[in-house]
Amino acid sequence: EMIKDEIITTPEETSDAINETIKEAKRMRKIILNMLELSSLENENLRPIEQIDISKAIPPIVSSLEIELKEKNIKVIEHYEPLFIGINSDDVDKLVRNLLENAIKYNKDNGSIFITVSSKNKTLTVKDTGIGISEEDKTRIFERFYRVNKARSVENGGTGLGLAIVKYIANYYDYDIEVDSTLGKGSAFTIHLQ
Ligand code: ATP
Ligand code: MG
Repeated sequence: EMIKDEIITTPEETSDAINETIKEAKRMRKIILNMLELSSLENENLRPIEQIDISKAIPPIVSSLEIELKEKNIKVIEHYEPLFIGINSDDVDKLVRNLLENAIKYNKDNGSIFITVSSKNKTLTVKDTGIGISEEDKTRIFERFYRVNKARSVENGGTGLGLAIVKYIANYYDYDIEVDSTLGKGSAFTIHLQ
């Protein structure tokens, strides 16, 4: 509107305003997509369940995040044991993708992500070397729209819905989620796949 009304006229100001508008539009798009995802999760009570080897389902998701990983030069260290679970394949993607996106977004440059699937413990763990989560925030991060550092989350395009989606899926299948984190050192999210 400011460009249209010629309040903003210089090329630099115009370019800044366009970039800001694109960033906000992308964030709005993400909020809408995440809200639609949550709402469809809440309504689709009959999701086809397959026997999926979770250790085989994860590598393609990691590959799809290659650009984001490269941008921060983050190394992924994977340790997989076969683990078959009865789950909907879209749900596996949402669960793993949201945890991985966070492990990248809240990591440091040149950091690492450890992905472990244990057949003995029936667990999936995504561990990062990022900013960590305080004891107080640990209980709140799964709430819809909750973001620890609102200013920074807006900066990196966060909507605060990713972990709400993770929690919804975990509850649906009766999986427990364990969060182990130290401020400034990193966080580990473990899903107990029963
Ligand atoms: P979105 O997932 O929609 O992009 P988001 O990442 O901000 O947005 P959530 O994934 O729900 O939202 O996470 C909620 C908040 O929890 C984040 O804003 C962040 O402050 C904190 N958080 C989540 N994962 C981590 C992590 N691995 N390390 C540190 N903080 C985290
Ligand atoms: Mg997230």
